[in-house]
Amino acid sequence: MRLYEFEGKKLFAQFGIPIPNGKLASTPDEVWEAVKEIGPAALKSQVLTGGRGKAGGVKLADGPNEARTLANDLFALKIKGFPVERLLIEPKLEIEKEFYLGVTIDRAAYKLVIIASGEGGVDIEETAEKSPEKIVRKSFAIDAPLYTFDALGIAKKMDVPHDQIKPAASIIQKLFKMFRAYDAKMVEINPLVLTTNGELIAADSRVSLDDDSLFRHHDLTEMGIEKRHEEGEMTPRERKADSDGIPYLDLDGNIGMFPGGAGFGIMGNDFIHHYGGEPANFMDSGGGPKPERIAKMLVLLDDNPKVKAIFGARFGGISRCDDFAKGVLIFLRDHGLSKPMVMRMTGNMWEEGVRIFEEAKKEDPKLMEKVEFHGIETPIEEISKRAVELANQNGGN
Ligand code: GDP
Ligand code: MN
Repeated sequence: MRLYEFEGKKLFAQFGIPIPNGKLASTPDEVWEAVKEIGPAALKSQVLTGGRGKAGGVKLADGPNEARTLANDLFALKIKGFPVERLLIEPKLEIEKEFYLGVTIDRAAYKLVIIASGEGGVDIEETAEKSPEKIVRKSFAIDAPLYTFDALGIAKKMDVPHDQIKPAASIIQKLFKMFRAYDAKMVEINPLVLTTNGELIAADSRVSLDDDSLFRHHDLTEMGIEKRHEEGEMTPRERKADSDGIPYLDLDGNIGMFPGGAGFGIMGNDFIHHYGGEPANFMDSGGGPKPERIAKMLVLLDDNPKVKAIFGARFGGISRCDDFAKGVLIFLRDHGLSKPMVMRMTGNMWEEGVRIFEEAKKEDPKLMEKVEFHGIETPIEEISKRAVELANQNGGN
């Protein structure tokens, strides 16, 4: 979960990392008021993406009238698709030098890593490519302390002026502490600014927290920081799935993927591609979904106009194929299926699943009209091929 700049800065302040004293504004008049009070200011678009500076989303204004004019433009701006609804108004910094400071997780090494550079303000990826020698990286075991001498060592290598080594080290330690305290995935200050008055101050924040640990951080809710924030990056269907607790991603193709777990989902994706098809989504039913949830998963696929056929592949492990079949029937009765569907059940209770379908078909052939179902006798290759064929027949290609 990504935080807005102003939210990240609230966390910085809480840990004693110096930040400019800013104000949020949602209208050009509010911007005028803020700049009248603050004086020369930076107007910063609050959107959940980086590169705002390059996209024209960060402006400097000397007075309130100029600020209002600039704000008018900023509020009309979309940055990488994100509309600008709020501006953070901060006293303009007189910049002597810009540094980069970040903490993230090195997933390959199972370590935390502090990344620092005397080349701040620019894309760190760009620096990493062009002049890797200008980047300092230091790894720490997940639970290892960050000692002051480590922080001092990093600060020295960042090339801060001699009298700034101690303040820089202190910011490094605070950022590291914050990273751990909030179960972050990444925290970044870019740029960490050295002002002409000789002060180090966090001019930007980028903070990404682990969604799965939000329950441990009630104070975030009190600060108005809630899960809504990544919604900007989700499609309406992904949002709906998320609110039903279904891991779901929209893709570009036309075959609705209705697999068992994530592993089967990935494999199904490969099979569909192998036979010349394109999945419309990725979905994971999670361990042991109840029939009601299975039904909701199918609604997502059937309501998607891009979907021309549905591929269902269930391997009953923890979950049971009879629950799966029951879920499909709930969906067929309550919602109805508008696309052809081919599916296969193997594993835990698959025979019972097939029996439930056969019975339903006997009782009400119309209900099962668009469903082709198979058990372990039909290889997954056949099911995949058939799904691609059905999608092509149904107007996709
Ligand atoms: P980003 O482009 O989304 O990372 O947004 P930043 O907050 O990092 O702003 C981009 C650039 O604008 C920074 O690298 C700075 O050079 C500049 N900038 C940001 N705030 C100020 C400020 O208060 N004063 C001055 N002079 N420049 C600023
Ligand atoms: Mn930045």
